[in-house]
Amino acid sequence: MQIAKFIYKQRENWGIIKGEAIKIMRDSPFRRVKLTERTIPLKKVKLLVPAEPTKIVLVGLNYKDHAKELKMRIPKEPVIFLKPPTALIAHREKIVYPSGSRRLDYEAELAVVIKKKAKNISFKKVKNYILGYTCLNDVTARDLQKRDIQWTRAKSFDTFCPCGPYLETDVNPSNLRIKAYLNGKLKQDSSTSNFIFSVEEIVSFISKIMTLNPGDIISTGTPPGVGPMKIGDTIDIVIDGIGCLSNTVSK
Ligand code: MG
Repeated sequence: MQIAKFIYKQRENWGIIKGEAIKIMRDSPFRRVKLTERTIPLKKVKLLVPAEPTKIVLVGLNYKDHAKELKMRIPKEPVIFLKPPTALIAHREKIVYPSGSRRLDYEAELAVVIKKKAKNISFKKVKNYILGYTCLNDVTARDLQKRDIQWTRAKSFDTFCPCGPYLETDVNPSNLRIKAYLNGKLKQDSSTSNFIFSVEEIVSFISKIMTLNPGDIISTGTPPGVGPMKIGDTIDIVIDGIGCLSNTVSK
């Protein structure tokens, strides 16, 4: 099932994608998925980020092939950091290049959206707390990340968290091909089978630190091949079975 959040006739709605149409939900998917009888054409809506986060938690190094590329040791536990919800933008919205940075990188990532309140969740129960999976671009001002000890500034500018286009509920997150295309050229190409920490390990680990709320986003790290973007570039994050998140960089 593909779940979308969108604006139609100035109103925010959630719905289920059925081919070229969307069936509107009665409520948000964090309670129970209940559909109305109304169906509208997909091309008539403006897609929104398919989440309602109180926080966005991201994992640093999490691909074995990326650790190899960087000649870094495999970490013993996940390194996590936050992005503010104000950094979110939807599919086809613009990434704004900050005037104070000289190096803006894309990072293709698989993200998870939380379905219900989660605290101290065991590895085995994590699946019950996940609403679905989507694409995320962990946009990073690499020069500022190198300059600061904390990553907050480098990761948190407005528009630094493209996410979408939809949530897919029925995929196996441990074996998904993940790619990034910069202006149509393949730059990142890996599989979540190269994860150092699985989705279950990551969500369980984070839930033992902070309470996860319905709509929160957790992003699972990026594979090898990260690189810079310029003003005017288009960056597509493609995850098989989920979709393509496309954004353009602007001034
Ligand atoms: Mg990242």
